[in-house]
Amino acid sequence: MVHTNVVIIGSGPGAHTAAIYLSRAELEPVLYEGMLANGTAAGGQLTTTTDVENFPGFPDGIGGSELMDKMRAQSERFGTKIITETISKLDLSQRPFKMWTEWNDGPDSEPAHTADAVIIATGANARRLNLPGEEKYWQNGISACAVCDGAVPIFRNKPLYVIGGGDSAAEEAMFLAKYGSHVTVLVRRDKLRASKVMADRLLKHPKCTVRFNTVATEVLGEDKPNGLMTHLRVKSTTDDKEEVVEANGLFYAVGHDPANALVKGQLKLDEDGYIVTQPGTSLTSIEGVFACGDVQDKRYRQAITSAGSGCVAALEAEKYLADLDVSHQEVNGAKAAPVL
Ligand SMILES: Cc1cc2nc3c(=O)[nH]c(=O)nc-3n(C[C@H](O)[C@H](O)[C@H](O)COP(=O)(O)OP(=O)(O)OC[C@H]3O[C@@H](n4cnc5c(N)ncnc54)[C@H](O)[C@@H]3O)c2cc1C
Repeated sequence: MVHTNVVIIGSGPGAHTAAIYLSRAELEPVLYEGMLANGTAAGGQLTTTTDVENFPGFPDGIGGSELMDKMRAQSERFGTKIITETISKLDLSQRPFKMWTEWNDGPDSEPAHTADAVIIATGANARRLNLPGEEKYWQNGISACAVCDGAVPIFRNKPLYVIGGGDSAAEEAMFLAKYGSHVTVLVRRDKLRASKVMADRLLKHPKCTVRFNTVATEVLGEDKPNGLMTHLRVKSTTDDKEEVVEANGLFYAVGHDPANALVKGQLKLDEDGYIVTQPGTSLTSIEGVFACGDVQDKRYRQAITSAGSGCVAALEAEKYLADLDVSHQEVNGAKAAPVL
């Protein structure tokens, strides 16, 4: 069992930004990057995409995996110890906090690691629909992030589709209307779940149409390596009638699942399972436990916002550890003082 000042769990922009700050502060952080944790490679969600065009500092864009490799190298450069294992169990009920790795987490297993502070940066996953054709055209027409991908040339002046009936779907559709020739929102039921304001705005938008009682059933497209999607098969939920429509983009707005399994029942979560942090901070409901990135952000979910919150988590962890150190010194000093 190893003890360190601080352990970071996760491997996306939030985790690596925290690692860069903490290692430069000579706090010798250990970062567990996971081994296909939550089905995603170490490096997080950006490893599943091609070009990232909105991360500052890369005027020509940069591949998602390349960006994460650079962040990882920067973490290591300043001394972060990166362990390619998944944390499968975390005990936040006692100090130091204890954690176990996958396959070594039985009831009698010793914790792999203990730490005075923990940063949770486990991210989130966009929900998918597992439609036929989805795997083939993922990132070749299908996306779960309009803000990330909407501006790329394949969607310009093309018919685009959004699936979902909530506020995110409405917001994404109106955002995409800047780029596509027209945006159609497919809603399974006969009404939108979105707030009245958003629903009204969407329904009145000149470049958006809402098709109620309609689901997508198959994604169709070019039959070649890296071929693009060109059509979508849709079905009415009222009479099962099918139709193939021209569609060069399909955006899922059916929610995200924050990776909260480690902390469920220990940290305060909101109604959608996101870790609750005090506004503007990374402070969670347990002192010494910090959260950053998508696992605590249901609104923005961007690489740059995750990185920003990773910086905040590192600075708050640093302060927490410094305060802890002072109080230890005071306790030890008091014990060592001779009784006169
Ligand atoms: C297809 C796609 C394209 C995107 N494009 C853009 C874009 O162009 N621009 C942009 O700004 N944003 C984009 N995003 C969003 C961006 O990727 C996320 O907002 C960002 O990656 C979130 O960072 P994060 O630090 O929360 O961690 P994540 O990237 O979510 O990574 C967390 C990772 O931590 C690891 N992990 C999880 N649990 C454990 C555990 N128990 N033990 C150890 N390791 C664990 C896993 O590897 C996990 O994937 C895109 C997202 C997707 C899915």
